[in-house]
Amino acid sequence: MQPDDIVRKAFFSARHHFHPGRVVNICFIAVLIFSTLLTWREVVVLEDAYAATQHNHLENVVNSLDRQLQFSVEKLLFFRNGMQDALETPLASTVLSDTVSHISDLREKNAWHLTFDARRTLTLHGVSDAFVEQTNSLVRDDERLEQEMSAAFEMGYLLRINAPSAQARRVVYASRAGFYVSTDPNDEGRDITSRYYRLVTSPWFTQQSERDNRARSVRWFTQRAEREQVVTVSVPVDYQQYWYGVLAIEFTLQGMKKLLQDAVDGNGEGEFQLYDNGFHLLATSESVAANVNHFDARELAQIAGVMAKDTGGEIRLGSRYVNWQHLDHFDGVLLRIHTLREGAQGDFGSITIALALLWLLFTGMLIVSWAVIRRMVSNMYRLQHSLQWQAWHDPLTRINNRGALFEQAKALAKRCQQQHRPFSVMQMDLDHFKCVNDRYGHQAGDKVLTHAARLITSTIRKADVAGRVGGEEFCVVLPGAGPEEAMQIAERIRERINDREILVKKSETTRISVSIGVSSALESDNYDFEQLQSVADARLYQAKQRGRNRVVGQDDMK
Ligand code: GH3
Ligand code: MG
Ligand code: MG
Repeated sequence: MQPDDIVRKAFFSARHHFHPGRVVNICFIAVLIFSTLLTWREVVVLEDAYAATQHNHLENVVNSLDRQLQFSVEKLLFFRNGMQDALETPLASTVLSDTVSHISDLREKNAWHLTFDARRTLTLHGVSDAFVEQTNSLVRDDERLEQEMSAAFEMGYLLRINAPSAQARRVVYASRAGFYVSTDPNDEGRDITSRYYRLVTSPWFTQQSERDNRARSVRWFTQRAEREQVVTVSVPVDYQQYWYGVLAIEFTLQGMKKLLQDAVDGNGEGEFQLYDNGFHLLATSESVAANVNHFDARELAQIAGVMAKDTGGEIRLGSRYVNWQHLDHFDGVLLRIHTLREGAQGDFGSITIALALLWLLFTGMLIVSWAVIRRMVSNMYRLQHSLQWQAWHDPLTRINNRGALFEQAKALAKRCQQQHRPFSVMQMDLDHFKCVNDRYGHQAGDKVLTHAARLITSTIRKADVAGRVGGEEFCVVLPGAGPEEAMQIAERIRERINDREILVKKSETTRISVSIGVSSALESDNYDFEQLQSVADARLYQAKQRGRNRVVGQDDMK
């Protein structure tokens, strides 16, 4: 870029580099980002509160269910203690020892039952010696048998009067010595052998061996038995390091469901599902089968994955919010499933929806006001530009007006003086222009003026500045041009203006001429633009005097 161009560009652009449209955009974007962040923060806080509420709901149910299951576990331990007590201090009753001694007559029979006092205790049901011998895990120890049977009668009394829970199906003691005691009336009478066989082959019995349960602790099992699934809690009965048998409480799935529903009672929305340790569904709080939430294999794997890591937590599966917690007194986990619909109907849902609507409304209003303000600002900006242009340009010829030319000319003169470069000025006036007006009319005169201005600007160099300084007077500033170069340019302008025929009216042309006065700063080392212009004007007058259509660059030597 030429240095003189910089001066000219600076003259116009100093007023332009501020873009209000861009500032408006930035302001609105900032407000939008800020309001969105604020809303987002609210949503995060709300989400945490929601998770805490969901956790509370679940914990209430877990605690309540745990309490009920703990009750059964404690009952089981109570029965075991009763049995162990009876083994340690047998009842000194001859009637009881007489009854028990009948075993010597019964033990060879395939199936037998022995009643001590049907109103006070429960009947023992047993199988033969041969059956016990055939089966690996069973032992009929003659020295312990009668004592164990007496103890079983005593414990039967406890079983009869201590129902563990309304939801339990039965309490049963299965002895390794080939007999059982059960609170279930169905276990009496027929099919004793097969019933006993089923008991001692159940996992809740076999997995209570000394090897499989070294801690001799309470364990939960789920098993499919006789067409239905059964949940069993069992504990081994040992005395003096000898494993006598297993005590168990069985729950049907209906029983578990009832327990769960009792625990859920009043804890509102969402479905609760109880799973065993193999993550099989045991019970759900939902009574309508169609409303039960189901998980596909991928979701189940996802849940099982997070569950393995902690005792409780939450996970989002599509539109469902699932939280879960392990139970203390049951070998399983309770899940709570809250669907989006349930969530939307709740308090948090309505607050979230209101927040979203508020944000949408605000954003909508923001966008509308942005569009309106943007439009207003760009209109004002355009208006400002047009006013600015009009302030510095001549509307007819569209070149610089007097004011703009003088400002630029002064700046350029100063710059050339600082850089010790030449600087010239041309003052020109169209010859007999009044005649054009008189002969062809004012409009034709305007056309001629525009034509002349166009010829001048297309002849001068890029760095030169032309302006209309009077009616049909023009001035050109030539930074960097010495007297000779300025004379050449002036001569070229004069020739070009005089060469052309100008169409002033339909099929009427005219030819005009121009007189030019040229002055240069180098002549007297004077860079004052106004003085240079007045010298050029005086030389223009001389050109007129000498017959017009000529360039004068020197004063007359009179
Ligand atoms: P010379 O300069 O050769 O002595 O003769 P002249 O006829 O050009 O002289 P003068 O300065 O008397 O005339 C200038 C005329 O220019 C007078 C005026 O009507 C006309 N004029 C000034 N401004 C405009 C304009 O904007 N449009 C038109 N059409 N005419 C203009
Ligand atoms: Mg004039
Ligand atoms: Mg004139």
